[in-house]
Amino acid sequence: MKPIVAIVGRPNVGKSTLFNKLVGDRVAIVDNQPGVTRDRLYRETEWCGTEFVLVDTGGLEPRNNDFMMANIKKQAEVAMNEADVILFVVDGKAGVTALDEEVAYLLRKKNKHVILCVNKIDNFQAQLEDTYDFWGLGFEDLAPVSAEHKVNLGDMLDTVVEHI
Ligand code: GDP
Ligand code: MG
Repeated sequence: MKPIVAIVGRPNVGKSTLFNKLVGDRVAIVDNQPGVTRDRLYRETEWCGTEFVLVDTGGLEPRNNDFMMANIKKQAEVAMNEADVILFVVDGKAGVTALDEEVAYLLRKKNKHVILCVNKIDNFQAQLEDTYDFWGLGFEDLAPVSAEHKVNLGDMLDTVVEHI
């Protein structure tokens, strides 16, 4: 069995975009409205010779806030149970949200290794300070990235394979 790396986070932070970039294919549906990742998607990939299975955990992302939270919680639970490493994605442009804090709370309760992936840092020079608040979520590994523009994904993957 190859190690499992699960991508979790609230809707619209760029989980499916990241998944597609990392597996080198456009299998996950990307949309700027929540509600478009149909299933959990599993794809094998590798980094520097370490093979793993990457999971995109959108599920059906309901627009209603209560359902949305219930769904994220369910996805996070499944991810925490099956994954060896969790990529917790947040939106660096939007800042820390209440939903991020709830997901962080769930993830901190288990002792799986979590890498906090602060996405949408398209311009590293100008936006790096947008990531500072996210340290408050309490994870020791924080990777500022831009999934869309493939910024810093290599450093993030180095951290992933270190913890597999
Ligand atoms: P998901 O709901 O978490 O799976 O998010 P998606 O991957 O569907 O992306 C949501 C929106 O964020 C889409 O409009 C993406 O094009 C956009 N997005 C994803 N990654 C980036 C990024 O690195 N930078 C910017 N500026 N937008 C991004
Ligand atoms: Mg998605």
